[in-house]
Amino acid sequence: MNWPTTGKINVAIDGPAGAGKSTVARKVAEKLGYIYVDTGAMYRTVTLKAIRAGADMENAEALADIAGRVDIRLVPEAGGQKVFMDGEDVTDPIRAQDVTRLVSQVAAVPDIRSVLVRLQQDIARERGVVMDGRDIGTNVLPDAEVKVFMTASVRIRAERRWKELKDKEPNVTVESLMEAIAERDKSDSEREASPLRQAEDAVLLDTSEMTADEAADRIVELCRQALEV
Ligand code: C5P
Repeated sequence: MNWPTTGKINVAIDGPAGAGKSTVARKVAEKLGYIYVDTGAMYRTVTLKAIRAGADMENAEALADIAGRVDIRLVPEAGGQKVFMDGEDVTDPIRAQDVTRLVSQVAAVPDIRSVLVRLQQDIARERGVVMDGRDIGTNVLPDAEVKVFMTASVRIRAERRWKELKDKEPNVTVESLMEAIAERDKSDSEREASPLRQAEDAVLLDTSEMTADEAADRIVELCRQALEV
């Protein structure tokens, strides 16, 4: 299928941890020839920087200061993106469990969110972006032409995470991941600054019984409809 090169749209994909957003968003971007932007990677990068700096995770001011100084670059590459922090490739380190454990706390700091949201909006200015996160449809790109809220049951999400992690972290169990995911959902949904919630004009996509390809095809179909009008 030939996609129009002009009249590009933005696609916002939000949802809780492990709903399959990044896998699906990547596929959608590939099919459309768009840029994929993983905003969770940005919050993870600030968290990694804070951990390495020995920052006090309760000190919002110190954390915001770190967010203001770190240089984050997302470099699209075949099938995904690389993440650079002050020039260092941190694509793998930002996925480590200690970062995952602390990231929601860092992401709850309003001054950190405003720095990263501005960056995200700059990337999407020319359109042609598939962006995934928690607040993309509600806050970062409220005018995105296609908005999707992806969910799946906690067990399914934990099982998916487990498959990704089991080789690198053999001690991890589905049960421990279920607990961690439920905890992260809770803090992402209950925080005051741009909590995780479905935008009123977002399409709800429950991927519990869907493959990533099926979910991506469904979203591409929504994009096709948006491009036709
Ligand atoms: O998507 P991922 O699981 O890598 O995101 C890590 C964390 O970053 C989330 O649990 C959430 O706390 C935060 N996040 C956010 N807003 C976004 C993307 C991620 O608060 N747009």
